[in-house]
Amino acid sequence: MMEKQKNFVTRFAPSPNGWLHLGHAYSALLAAQQAAQHNGAFLLRIEDIDTGRARPHFVDGIYQDLAWLGLTWPEPVLVQSTRFAVYEAALASLRDRDLVYPCWASRAEIAAAIDAMPGGGENWPRDPDGAPVYPGLYRDISTEHRQSLMWRGGGYAWRLRMHRAIAEAEKLNDGPIFFTEVSSGTPQRIDVDGHRFGDVVLARKDMPTSYHLSVVIDDADQRITQVTRGRDLLNATHIHRVLQILLGLPEPQYFHHALVRDVSGRRLSKQAGDPGFRGLRQDGYSRDAVIAALPPPLGTAASL
Ligand code: GLU
Repeated sequence: MMEKQKNFVTRFAPSPNGWLHLGHAYSALLAAQQAAQHNGAFLLRIEDIDTGRARPHFVDGIYQDLAWLGLTWPEPVLVQSTRFAVYEAALASLRDRDLVYPCWASRAEIAAAIDAMPGGGENWPRDPDGAPVYPGLYRDISTEHRQSLMWRGGGYAWRLRMHRAIAEAEKLNDGPIFFTEVSSGTPQRIDVDGHRFGDVVLARKDMPTSYHLSVVIDDADQRITQVTRGRDLLNATHIHRVLQILLGLPEPQYFHHALVRDVSGRRLSKQAGDPGFRGLRQDGYSRDAVIAALPPPLGTAASL
């Protein structure tokens, strides 16, 4: 018999590009705690679309580290690299509505175009994560020009036509777009401002999807009702809401939690060589000691 769908479903969705660090431990434990408090489900998802960086031993490491923390999750675990066809179908639906366009610009070409702007590179707008906003190269080229570039066969990325996407999403939504943030305990309405991101990449030749595209599809397919993740991804939620509406996906609530300092106070890194919190385990720290080293409501440490 199929298990009854829970009313509250949250998830932990790590990318296996390195060992989990304390920030991941916090995120996973907090999501599981949220699920327990709401008598809901805690799911795991492996976000391994970046096949150039994802490694099987990091996937094994995720399972081992989470089990060591005492976490359990239903099987089968959703593994994104098995779902490229699903992401491709969603991209095709955006393509059919002319909401994405192919872009052949290299990094160097983009940087040169920005430097050549009247105000120069320093004055060019940056997105909320600090990257220069894409200057729109190849967005408005003629159909003939686009076709000739296609025939030439070089690599290109699919970029969202952000202005059109927002206009279309607002039309579909019958008004301005927002998302609901619940991390303070009281639901807060946050107005979506997608324009600041410019035409984000939704797929590339070497990675036929993107974090933004696959995360919204999988949150919907896994029937996630609350996305629990770090504040470093709060900005991305503005893009995610636009995509959810365009793709007709349900709207989860968002719990963006505080970020965690490493025990030494340094910024947590996800370099492949960083031993992560399994290093603490190997150094003899107990599970309780690791949890105590996390910020409230799990431990007593300061957060960022
Ligand atoms: N896979 C992302 C990461 O490891 C997290 C995705 C999410 O929680 O939305 O940073």
